[in-house]
Amino acid sequence: MSAAHRVLRPFWTCAADGLPWPCAEARRRLSSNDLAVLRQTMAKLMAIAQGELDDTDLATLYRRFVAWTLEPDQRCAICGSRRHAAISGVAPRLIPCNALRAAIAASDLPGRPSAR
Ligand SMILES: [Zn+2]
Ligand SMILES: [Zn+2]
Repeated sequence: MSAAHRVLRPFWTCAADGLPWPCAEARRRLSSNDLAVLRQTMAKLMAIAQGELDDTDLATLYRRFVAWTLEPDQRCAICGSRRHAAISGVAPRLIPCNALRAAIAASDLPGRPSAR
């Protein structure tokens, strides 16, 4: 058996393969958990990672930690966007709708100055 695909903090890399955590194998294993619980866990981990990683923007973190745990057609309960979603049971300040909407929109336009 290979080493466990667990997170190494404060680097947030995988202990087994050194990739940004959660790596594909970590995601596959995590996906066997209850998805509602997994979403909450990943949203909280994203908030912790945000405090420990200083070279990662919100849109990238959101895709890495939370986006893959959502249903394909899940919409944000606040703004209706399909690009992100509020997670029930997680404080809105951890998954800030406005900030996510702006960050994800900005990351879709590489090289363009932010509209803010
Ligand atoms: Zn891994
Ligand atoms: Zn929203």
